[in-house]
Amino acid sequence: MTLLDRFQRELERLETDLNRETYRQYAGLPYDESLMEQRSREMETLVRGVLEEVPAADFPRPLLYASVRASRASEYTRLDNEIYRLRGDAVSVEDEGETVNLNNWRLFNRAHVRAPQRRRRVFDALLDRALVLTPLLAERFALSRDLFGRYNMTPLDAYLEEEEVDFSSLWQLVDSTARAARPAFREALAGFSAELLGQPPDYYDDYYVFGNVIYEPVDRHFAGVDFAALVGPIYEGLGFDLSQIAVDGEPRERKHASPICFAVRVPDEVYVLYQQTSPVYDYTGYCHEMGHALHFASVNRALPYMDRYLVPAGVAEIFSLLFETLGTTPRFLAEEVGLPQAAIDDLRRRERLMDLYFLTFYGANAMFNLRYWTEHPDMDAADALYADLYARYVGLEMPGRYWQTHHVVALYDVYAPSYLLAKVRTAELRRLLEERFTERWWRNPAAGAYLREELMGPGRGIPVDTFSRLDPRPSLVSLGL
Ligand SMILES: [Zn+2]
Repeated sequence: MTLLDRFQRELERLETDLNRETYRQYAGLPYDESLMEQRSREMETLVRGVLEEVPAADFPRPLLYASVRASRASEYTRLDNEIYRLRGDAVSVEDEGETVNLNNWRLFNRAHVRAPQRRRRVFDALLDRALVLTPLLAERFALSRDLFGRYNMTPLDAYLEEEEVDFSSLWQLVDSTARAARPAFREALAGFSAELLGQPPDYYDDYYVFGNVIYEPVDRHFAGVDFAALVGPIYEGLGFDLSQIAVDGEPRERKHASPICFAVRVPDEVYVLYQQTSPVYDYTGYCHEMGHALHFASVNRALPYMDRYLVPAGVAEIFSLLFETLGTTPRFLAEEVGLPQAAIDDLRRRERLMDLYFLTFYGANAMFNLRYWTEHPDMDAADALYADLYARYVGLEMPGRYWQTHHVVALYDVYAPSYLLAKVRTAELRRLLEERFTERWWRNPAAGAYLREELMGPGRGIPVDTFSRLDPRPSLVSLGL
């Protein structure tokens, strides 16, 4: 066994312990912060030793980048824990007897969707309070900038290399899809806003407000549906083993607001967390996170750490989006869920708005990542940049600090572009599945075998170019663009 093999084994052991505590933290369960600190320090010692011993050129690149971050694991852990704590405590506001923080904000918006003045008041107050996050987010980004700077690169450079996409292609993809979506988005948004909120859309009617309210008329078809009983047998029919996946839908006070998946130990210990918000939102969120879970539970356990754990997000999100969109495929809704045709048509019309909102909103988020790491703004200039991009792509006057409250844009160096990469690739993959395994591919065990063995099993070694040319047309065509 080589030094790098032993290193990966040790790294996995430490990371598994860390992942498990992070999962418990997000689940609102007791977690051991001192264990997290201890494992982070052990990880630092391990990684620094290997980085000194092995020349950078001898490292596989993904392992090098993971090691660069892990060389300061305790700093990241401290900052992430502090940010997590502030999001639940300090970034908090009392409004008519209710306490709203960044963890339960979306539940509050859901409960008060018809009280725009309350939502505006809470939105503005939370953005004021979010100032406490600013120095920590700045410190976290500065840490990443410094670490990658030692290799004459930025976190974005490492990201592009890992996602196997060059800067100008990604820029072009983000900009062109967001621009293509914008006119249809503005029209659909105006219509739905009048219908659902009784007024034109405003900045505080963000993507998540619509995500919660848009499916209201269809919600009754999903109320009381047992998601596991509905989709579990279909996943099993495709050959997936669900025994490695634990699903937690229990409400807990400090539980993360959005559905989330944790691959604590790949492929054997995977968790899906969600809580009840509204039926369709919960259903699509459940399907999305189960897609992640099925993927990680299917990775070949004989592969080294690097291939099992260091899967780029633009790959991981392919399987979440594949199973999320499967859940709302018209024929699936008719045959598996038993929805009447009128409800299916209505759901699809509403989903189209959310897809268009996604392309514009994540267009702004992704472009923010690209420009942040090439222009290096300070935090005030970053806010101004975000406001500018939001106005350009989404078309609303959003206060620039909003990005600092976002659970993806604020908490990762670069992540948002991966959703767009995956969205494009998922539409390409769906087309291939339908061509090769019929339109009803989800009932075809051969489709499951293909997904599991050829695409999911290899982990980061997935042969993406066998099904994707990063062609945005299939996803735009499906939106009528
Ligand atoms: Zn996801």
